[in-house]
Amino acid sequence: MGFEYDSDTLHEECGVFGVYNHPDAAALTALGLHALQHRGQEAAGIVTSDGELFYAHKGIGLVGATFSDPDVINNLKGNLAIGHNRYATTGGGMLRNVQPFYADMAFGGFTLAHNGNLTNAHTLRKNLVKRGSIFQSTGDTEVIVHLVSMSDKETIADKLTDAVREIKGGYALLASAKGQLIGVRDAYGIRPLILGKLNDSYILASESCALDIIGATFIRDLEAGEMVIINEEGVTSHFPFKRRQRRSCIFEYIYFARPDSFMDGQSVYDTRKNIGIELARESAVDGADLVVPVPDSGVPSAIGYAQESGIPFELGIIRNHYIGRTFIEPGDSVRHLGVKLKHNANRRYLEGKSVVLVDDSIVRGTTSRKIVEMVREAGAREVHMRISSPPTSHSCFYGIDTPDSKELLAHTKSVEEICEFIKADSLAYISLDGLYRAAGETARNSDAPQYCDACFTGEYPVELTDHDNKMTGTTVSDLRERQSSK
Ligand code: AMP
Repeated sequence: MGFEYDSDTLHEECGVFGVYNHPDAAALTALGLHALQHRGQEAAGIVTSDGELFYAHKGIGLVGATFSDPDVINNLKGNLAIGHNRYATTGGGMLRNVQPFYADMAFGGFTLAHNGNLTNAHTLRKNLVKRGSIFQSTGDTEVIVHLVSMSDKETIADKLTDAVREIKGGYALLASAKGQLIGVRDAYGIRPLILGKLNDSYILASESCALDIIGATFIRDLEAGEMVIINEEGVTSHFPFKRRQRRSCIFEYIYFARPDSFMDGQSVYDTRKNIGIELARESAVDGADLVVPVPDSGVPSAIGYAQESGIPFELGIIRNHYIGRTFIEPGDSVRHLGVKLKHNANRRYLEGKSVVLVDDSIVRGTTSRKIVEMVREAGAREVHMRISSPPTSHSCFYGIDTPDSKELLAHTKSVEEICEFIKADSLAYISLDGLYRAAGETARNSDAPQYCDACFTGEYPVELTDHDNKMTGTTVSDLRERQSSK
């Protein structure tokens, strides 16, 4: 049946956007999703509601391709909308996995969009299936729909509260039902979610750049563990979990978020630039002629590095913008091809030069290795790699797509070995404390870290229930067994 349900399909990087009380809710949502396109390029969907009926449109591919037809937008009626951009690694690209999800419940229609990853989805799903739930999709989000449906509470907010108390992980949720828009940020605030306003309308979105595109004003970030309910009475705030210190994802600042966004009161661009400044202080390169970013993600840090070191900044590598993020192309063959499709050396500037290359991270090392080779082939005399994150040594289980730890170069290799692998003259990463300084802290508080930095430290704030119970993939194995025994 080609039914994929392995651990890879659960890793998602997504963007969410919702509008309450605007006659052009669908059009605004399409624009918001367009601004959040970097968070997921595989599929997009919008579900609207006019208070009575729900209307949905979803498609595989970019937001522009799915929502450029005015008829599509006009058919998405109503003042309330939620939208979702999706990326999943393998096998999960089928339309039935594209969000927002819609379900007819005893109380009426319910829609849900989710950015993040649940760490106990398999466990919950297995129990739900035993109790009779029938799942339509292969991702982790649908468990939330079932949990809401099973709650015996009266109000939609209470039902959702019951559901989120069962789930674990890093997530931002948007839901709509009974003419209300609801947003929830996980207990540690790992994934981002913000509240904005456009005249008499309210907006919820993954990032502030999605407010800018529609001219909405930023009100505030949701707090860690906060649920906001937006209805005729305005915005009310609830806290379904024990209050905890926020630990938002530090990788959003390093790579994932758009640089023009503000997250938890901090400019993403400034943080990236500060990392470059810290990197220049920590890991100077004597006699270098040029600082060159690996575009686009290395650009702000390279600017910071150049300003601090006084070494000239040049665009020594040019990026072709008509291809998605390298890493985001599913499948190894495409990923290997990716770098050549995406980057080219600006030969005239590199010939005979000692170059400081700045990139945001090394995952499998494919990009760095090819870029170093490309810069050398273009005539550079020396290539010094500077990375604006600490070594990525552990997988993310909270919604940033990373390969299994085994495939991460830094999981098993030392910095010297990685330098050898990518064939650079030198390699240095920002230190963990340097990163925290760049993000506005004096240092990392090891007793109570201010961010989720599990990908660098292996310290996971939320328990990894499925992983610890070796639960990944079991549901489908069961299914396959049952199918083959028929
Ligand atoms: P690799 O070639 O496997 O070492 O991947 C490193 C490149 O992928 C860097 O240039 C990053 O900009 C990019 N990258 C890092 N993490 C991610 C991610 N989670 N999703 C997409 N791209 C990423």
